[in-house]
Amino acid sequence: MKHPKFFLCIAVLSIISCQQKASKEETAAVPTDTTTKVTETKTESARPVHWGYEGDNGPQGWATLTPVYALCGSGKSQSPVNLVTNAAKGSLVWKIDYKSTALQIGHNEHVEELINNGHTIQVTPQEGSTLSLAGRIYHLKQFHFHTPSEHTLNGKNMPMEMHLVHQSDDKNLAVIGVLVKEGKHNSNFDQLIKYLPNAPGEKKTHDSVNIDIRVHFPADFYAYHYIGSLTTPPCTENVQWLVLRDQMTLSKDQVNAFASRIKKNNRSTQQLNERKVTMDDIAAKQ
Ligand SMILES: [Zn+2]
Repeated sequence: MKHPKFFLCIAVLSIISCQQKASKEETAAVPTDTTTKVTETKTESARPVHWGYEGDNGPQGWATLTPVYALCGSGKSQSPVNLVTNAAKGSLVWKIDYKSTALQIGHNEHVEELINNGHTIQVTPQEGSTLSLAGRIYHLKQFHFHTPSEHTLNGKNMPMEMHLVHQSDDKNLAVIGVLVKEGKHNSNFDQLIKYLPNAPGEKKTHDSVNIDIRVHFPADFYAYHYIGSLTTPPCTENVQWLVLRDQMTLSKDQVNAFASRIKKNNRSTQQLNERKVTMDDIAAKQ
């Protein structure tokens, strides 16, 4: 939006029909309501198209926002999925090696890069934490939260889900999902909750605050395993998913600390199609 007339064009759009053509890269930039939601369609730009969880920008419309998001509609290996507690046993070997990290936390409204998940609170750890899965090493890039959960358990959503997103050197993706149930206060989360950003767009680095990601995991490492996708546009497939069998417990207030900030940001469950979900019962004890 370099030309001042373009801003004027937007400003009067709701009052009169705007005949002025936008630049080649930007086919529309229309305020959709009086809050902060803005629809942008950039067909020829490398910048991602804005998407959300409501209305035309919501999950049902993702595939039509841009051809880049087509898999969100046509993909046959999408996430999340429903998990059943009697899943067949698998034989996957996996292990995590997570380091403690200085806290860099942000409340993202916009997708900044492929693995950067918009519409959530995201923690970006320092380099050095890895997931080893079926002989491949994946580096932990970020973790973020969904309220309520995206994966369902026997058809039911849980109050919250944490996703730890990993990428290998050859750009393969693996995500560990941790479901959250409501119950007792979990003091391991106090430090994170203390620093949760309030406003969308707020991003902070707390060099003096160290967090140990491992404490945010349940004691056992059994996991549901299947091949799925990113649950957000562009819904990239061939993502290795490990959703831990055991859940973390947070108090109602602790879940609300996340939910009140990120609102409802869960995609509904997708068809399994030809895929199988297995329960990996030889997960390496850490
Ligand atoms: Zn996620």
